[in-house]
Amino acid sequence: MMMAADRAKWQADVVVLGAGIVGVSIALHLQRLGRQTILFDRRPAGEGTSFGNAGIIQREAVFPHAFPRNIRELLIYAFNGKTEAHYHASMLPRLLRPFAQYWHHSEPGRYHAIARDYARLIAHCVDDHRALAAEAGAADLLHDGGWTAACATPRALDGFLKIAEESRRDFGVGYQALDGARLSAAEPHLRAGLAGGVHWTDPVTLRNPLALTRAYLALFEKLGGRFAYGDARTLTRAGAGWAVTGDEAAISAEQAVVALGAWSPVVTKPLGYDPPLFVKRGYHMHYRPEGNAGLNHPVLDVENGYMLVPMDAGIRLTTGAEFADRDGPPTPVQLTRVEPLAHNLMPGLGERIDPEIWMGARPCTADMLPIIGPAPRQPGLWFGFGHGHQGLTLGPTTGRLLAAMMVGETPFTDPAAFSPARFA
Ligand SMILES: Cc1cc2nc3c(=O)[nH]c(=O)nc-3n(C[C@H](O)[C@H](O)[C@H](O)COP(=O)(O)OP(=O)(O)OC[C@H]3O[C@@H](n4cnc5c(N)ncnc54)[C@H](O)[C@@H]3O)c2cc1C
Repeated sequence: MMMAADRAKWQADVVVLGAGIVGVSIALHLQRLGRQTILFDRRPAGEGTSFGNAGIIQREAVFPHAFPRNIRELLIYAFNGKTEAHYHASMLPRLLRPFAQYWHHSEPGRYHAIARDYARLIAHCVDDHRALAAEAGAADLLHDGGWTAACATPRALDGFLKIAEESRRDFGVGYQALDGARLSAAEPHLRAGLAGGVHWTDPVTLRNPLALTRAYLALFEKLGGRFAYGDARTLTRAGAGWAVTGDEAAISAEQAVVALGAWSPVVTKPLGYDPPLFVKRGYHMHYRPEGNAGLNHPVLDVENGYMLVPMDAGIRLTTGAEFADRDGPPTPVQLTRVEPLAHNLMPGLGERIDPEIWMGARPCTADMLPIIGPAPRQPGLWFGFGHGHQGLTLGPTTGRLLAAMMVGETPFTDPAAFSPARFA
């Protein structure tokens, strides 16, 4: 075991805690701006929640996931009657505070104002990824062509088309309406008889999200950035700066960034910052396609709230939201419930590939906006977390915004709506 006295001492301008897609992107942007940066994680980069998502850079996601306001819908969710969401009753006492705020912010007037702020970030997601991927020599990991929301019933299709039209009208999001025949032509391996769908044309998709995070990490290291293993809970004040204890070295830096995704409160709470953050856990499993079966693009089963995504590792089924203890054992009831529905939607979806079901934790805030900016009471400490359903989408955009703020450049958009101070 290494003794404290043996440990090397590393100094940097900034230490970024958390090497998911968000932390890696922040560190990369800081390094590009000439700030000597150390990226710090207990695991290899990109192996947290960023590992197992649906791989969509969601240019269409201008409307964040709202809390249901309709009593009938609420009752269905209360009885775990929908496959897209599931909660553990034991979590209710802990969820009361964030849920009350989530409900409040989902009121239509407030929600639309939030969507306008969110859209200011979402608008840049594809360009920001393209810029980093090109510089990292990883442009071939990004696939054009968007993704498709498939509806079994005309009622679901009408509802989805309304959202698509609003997204186009208010935020310039591109889509094509598909009737049943056009959906079949676009995705011939889905079952016959679906009502139709919406094809979002602007998003870019990945077949291997981990490869993209690793490519950004490689660029960060090529530019002189350094990766260090260790536990972020060792963060302490050190003079006017910050220090963490790494496995190999004692690290000190003038500034620190918390980008620990769903685990961010383990560092912020002891420092007196406890935002209404909660997790929506999600699961994935890969399936072997049978014969020549396949998907041209990711497909959402709108009525049942899961996705089927063509990945290098097979067809990835990703589930909706599970409100459960962040670090509790996996309880993949949603995956078990949607699996037969997925086989019905795509008859050529073959057997399971992975030996175990993967689980991740989406870091969600009660007002559906990420937390990006300076810590309210701790000079030199910055936050970049709370990206909920769209952390992959918004990693590079968050990195560009936060890095500009940290070096005193004018950010590309007004960051006030994302300020940590709103929860202080
Ligand atoms: C099923 C599913 C599908 C999704 N699909 C999409 C999608 O298609 N598009 C999209 O944009 N988003 C999607 N998301 C959301 C997205 O994956 C997350 O928002 C994103 O991964 C969050 O990234 P992050 O960097 O904030 O957190 P993470 O990737 O979780 O990284 C946090 C890091 O902190 C580290 N850490 C934690 N505690 C400590 C500690 N004490 N010390 C040191 N290190 C620590 C972890 O090891 C980890 O590397 C999906 C999520 C799920 C679950």
